[in-house]
Amino acid sequence: MINMTDFASLGLSAPLLKAIASQNFTQPYPIQTEVIPAVLKGKDILGIAQTGSGKTASFVLPILEMLLSANAPKNRHISGLILVPTRELAVQIGEVLVNFGTDLPRKIKSLAVFGGVSINPQMMKLQGVEILVATPGRLIDLVEHKAVHLSEVKMLVIDEADKMLNLGFQDEMAYIFRLLPTKRQNLLFSATLGKDVNSVTEFLLHDPIKIEIKPEAQHLDLITQIAYLVSEERKGNVLRYLIKTQDMKQVLVFTSSVHKADAVVNKLNKNGIESKAFHSEKSQGARTEALNKFKSGKLRVLVATDLASRGIDIQFLPFVINYELPRSPKDYIHRIGRTGRAEAAGQAISLICTEDEAHFKVIQKKMKKEVNLIATNDLNLHGF
Ligand code: AMP
Repeated sequence: MINMTDFASLGLSAPLLKAIASQNFTQPYPIQTEVIPAVLKGKDILGIAQTGSGKTASFVLPILEMLLSANAPKNRHISGLILVPTRELAVQIGEVLVNFGTDLPRKIKSLAVFGGVSINPQMMKLQGVEILVATPGRLIDLVEHKAVHLSEVKMLVIDEADKMLNLGFQDEMAYIFRLLPTKRQNLLFSATLGKDVNSVTEFLLHDPIKIEIKPEAQHLDLITQIAYLVSEERKGNVLRYLIKTQDMKQVLVFTSSVHKADAVVNKLNKNGIESKAFHSEKSQGARTEALNKFKSGKLRVLVATDLASRGIDIQFLPFVINYELPRSPKDYIHRIGRTGRAEAAGQAISLICTEDEAHFKVIQKKMKKEVNLIATNDLNLHGF
């Protein structure tokens, strides 16, 4: 189906359209078609969408547009606040703000702040900032240091609200909401709508426009899915066999536990395949370093658990391997959605043990797709 909508018809002005063109975005994604005009009309938004749907640009673009025509706030008083659960997401959104915000007629300064690093440099950089992307804990620290004031916030975004609540940020969020002016525009994005998220949306949003995007459904067609039936003992060899014989240059491997992620990394490195682990027990520094190396193509394999991998945006990732299946079909779909993104084809491979077969059937039923299960008994794994 040809999508006739273009960015110009969404109500964005020429400078923003130029910024979009400079990012080589030719057509808006469905979420952008729906969210951008609604935000420009001043509506509150409830967006049910995941990373990969294009949600970041869907809020960054209209926020820049609206702030462009508004006066800059008093120093250390921000106009736009984007709350996120993790450092990685903060950095990503910060980059999108910079990408779209550099060439505008009036410079709109933005900054991403998060915990796990020293606060002082962030306090200094807050000078003149209009849009702040922040994790809740660090934002509160900065407020308490009087490095930033929230009383002039015009636009609030809560991104990955479900994850924010899963991580236990309820109290911090409530504290932050109390510091905001009552008159403001609210945009909330969440991959899922549970009881917790519902109670926040009811409290926070006024007569919101609900926009639900199910990217996976359309998106799954872009992904070639394959599964190999492998005994537990041979999994490591099969993994190395696949990476080497298919000459995979960049592959994201998922395990179910931190412990297993570390064990897989160890084995890969011992066998000359450079890899690093990415999970909740790694320091922020180690996580950032691993992710940056992987994104820039200098690290061949990243081995991650589900929690750590949510919200990571990696463009054009060609391969995802499930070393172990996740318990929930949703997580499976989320994992394989790391490949075949931004309209590029990708391959998702799962290593299945006999005892996983029934569970894998459930996953296939849920995503309404059958995946070929290939036996590996006859594979000669000598030397892998
Ligand atoms: P997001 O869901 O915001 O993390 O975006 C997912 C990916 O899609 C990012 O790599 C964006 O750069 C890319 N993207 C977002 N919108 C568009 C668009 N309209 N055209 C092409 N790529 C896009």
